[in-house]
Amino acid sequence: MKITDVRAIQPVGENSPPDWRTSLGQILIAIDTDSGLTGYGVGGGGLSGIHVVRTVLRDLLLGQNPEHISRLWDEMYQSTLAFGRKGIAIMAISGVDLALWDLKGKAERLPVVSLLGGQPGQRIPTYRTVWKTEDLESIEPHAGYKLHLGKVAAPDQQDQMIRAIETARSLIGPDPLLMVDAWMKWNLESTVTISKAIVPFQVDWIEEPLSPDDLAGYAQLKELSAVPIAGGEHEFTAAAFSQLIDQKLHTVLQPDVCWCGGLTELIKIYKMANRAGLRVCPHRGAEIWALHAIAALDPQPLAETGRPWMTWVTGQPEIDSGLISVSDRPGWGLRFDEQSLNLIY
Ligand SMILES: [Mg+2]
Repeated sequence: MKITDVRAIQPVGENSPPDWRTSLGQILIAIDTDSGLTGYGVGGGGLSGIHVVRTVLRDLLLGQNPEHISRLWDEMYQSTLAFGRKGIAIMAISGVDLALWDLKGKAERLPVVSLLGGQPGQRIPTYRTVWKTEDLESIEPHAGYKLHLGKVAAPDQQDQMIRAIETARSLIGPDPLLMVDAWMKWNLESTVTISKAIVPFQVDWIEEPLSPDDLAGYAQLKELSAVPIAGGEHEFTAAAFSQLIDQKLHTVLQPDVCWCGGLTELIKIYKMANRAGLRVCPHRGAEIWALHAIAALDPQPLAETGRPWMTWVTGQPEIDSGLISVSDRPGWGLRFDEQSLNLIY
């Protein structure tokens, strides 16, 4: 099998802002082959990511055997090293890598979960991410809920956060998991103070309180926080995660498979974390790209949901009574119709 074309496009959907999460938008990668099979993956970086695919990665991939995923990943990384390593170039590589895994599954007529040694059909619990406590007033059943919180710049804002977390716990009741996401907007002192105050509300983790570059801050938090710290959503490549894992800077690691380098890197992150006794809970885990790895590699599977704007990836599994599973269809198992896409580029 040989690669005959690599296409990168930016679709939009009904709930899909073109500037998704201020991160330039998600991109679809399609890899065509001389076998007639096409593999699909989703990466990040918007038009900048598309530029990386069209000007660097496509030339490198044309004529190659798509089943040599690991070697191709290394070649893509080397070809973008001077301007890449983190961010847009790795987001673009992620989409290509996921499309290569789709092709491998389709060529072997196996779902990706089976390529990883797992079984399709396993029912995985989900947790829902919300941005307001009001969104927890009437909830569908999930194993847990995660509340996004705002910036903490003054002591009275700390009190607002603590009250919001108390409200969230009272709204969901005592049983479901409760997590909070600070999205890099707190600091060391406020995180320590808030963590101690929210112990009675049984919070499973505080997510990304500090910048991903503040490894010294996370090293202090490891000692000082009264609640486990999660992070990694904005980190890239297994090499960078190895530093987080070796120093145990996060109790829960949250790579985003569409940004961190694709499934090739997510597999390495799972292996390192499992060996270190740390938990992996991929960002956007209920989307199909991470779900196969969760099903195959995760001793404590939990899939994040709550992002309805990815409507253009059709054929993803539905959540049923708070549970989700991957099908036995080959590759990612998507039933994908390119003709239905509304493109902006
Ligand atoms: Mg987050």
